[in-house]
Amino acid sequence: MALKVAIVGRPNVGKSTLFNRLVGKRLALVDDRPGVTRDRRYADGNIGDIDLTLIDTAGYEDVTDDSLESRMREQTEAALDDAELILFMMDAREGVTALDRIFADHLRRHETPVVLLANKSESRESGGGVGEAHGLGFGEPVAISAEHGEGMADLYAAIVKAS
Ligand code: GDP
Ligand code: MG
Repeated sequence: MALKVAIVGRPNVGKSTLFNRLVGKRLALVDDRPGVTRDRRYADGNIGDIDLTLIDTAGYEDVTDDSLESRMREQTEAALDDAELILFMMDAREGVTALDRIFADHLRRHETPVVLLANKSESRESGGGVGEAHGLGFGEPVAISAEHGEGMADLYAAIVKAS
């Protein structure tokens, strides 16, 4: 049985890049413009010997802060409810943003276990962002580079531990 894993986080942090890496095909659209993934997408993938059903989420873009929470609920509640594990991704280069904190508050209200990912960690300047990510309250962030495939062994270990 594949483990159902939803990748969530604000636009442009690299969710679809990780989704594609774990699926191994270019199924999800990756683009420099935030928000090109319109819906949540499901695909089978794996990390090491763990079979995954991956859920790539999007749909928070062009949203004012006021309506963000209701939009999140509409567009990802189903994915979050469906998932056995949530990969909550932030951008280690940019550090923790207000939007990341809104996501964190939302995720905290779910029972589903959360693994926090500090993506774009391939560069030296991302260290501060990884430190900030601790403050989101999901324990030790897993530093990865979805684009360069770094940190995948740590991600594997975190998934094993959390699931
Ligand atoms: P999403 O909106 O969260 O799905 O983000 P995308 O996967 O579409 O990626 C947004 C941008 O970040 C794209 O330009 C990616 O190439 C870039 N990106 C994704 N992962 C990494 C990474 O590990 N390092 C760096 N430097 N850029 C990344
Ligand atoms: Mg995307």
